[in-house]
Amino acid sequence: MAARARILALTEDSGRQAQPTLQRILKEALKLVVVGVDLNPARIRIEPLPENDRALNAIHANQWKAHPPTRDTVILLGAIAARLLEPSGFVVFHFDTDRVWSKRESSENRQKFETIIRSGVRRILQGEGALPLTPRARPSLTTAQVEAALSRLLILSPCYSVESWLYQATNDLRALCHDRHDSEEHAQFIAEWTMDRTRLDEVHQPKAMLKECVADHHNEALAKSFPAEDVWLVERSFHESVERLRACTALVEALSHPVT
Ligand SMILES: [Zn+2]
Repeated sequence: MAARARILALTEDSGRQAQPTLQRILKEALKLVVVGVDLNPARIRIEPLPENDRALNAIHANQWKAHPPTRDTVILLGAIAARLLEPSGFVVFHFDTDRVWSKRESSENRQKFETIIRSGVRRILQGEGALPLTPRARPSLTTAQVEAALSRLLILSPCYSVESWLYQATNDLRALCHDRHDSEEHAQFIAEWTMDRTRLDEVHQPKAMLKECVADHHNEALAKSFPAEDVWLVERSFHESVERLRACTALVEALSHPVT
């Protein structure tokens, strides 16, 4: 079975749980983009970078935000460009906004993604600069082809951080918190977040709020019970990211392909 989409999944979070957490959230997002989508992994491949890839150094530990780009970031830009040059290639890049929803316009991370990552990849696709690509792969694209390739570079950018989404799994969150301690204060927060799903997007550093109990120790488990549709419906940062995916017509087309 030929893959309809090969999605390179990148997350700035390091650690064992980061990639499975991202993949889970991404799949939930894709199910909202195309209802009833067939996410058979042979058809829609979601792949991390190889474990020892130097580009991973650039994504983790904030290196990708450094200007001018580090050597590892240049390798990362090449890896992204190479994937976008594939006809069914997509890249989904998760980074935290590091701002609450109402302050998202002031997010340095969002600005840096555009000025360092997207612009850097654009230069490579335009055939400029020293490339870590093989000469065979050196692109010679029209402006329209460059922009079409760049439209397949997609972001998941939670406000404030990925825990702002994961903590929406409030039933599991409450149980995990309660297993660790009996905190009236935490129970109150979680009750408020359950009642009004817009609230977590306005919490500054949610991970720090539950640092004594849940923190980021259970991200993968929380991702498994992420109530994607409920969170999408309240139109905050998860909705924004899902709608960005939906705006990518090549992605929608790949996901919509009828099962044969
Ligand atoms: Zn707690």
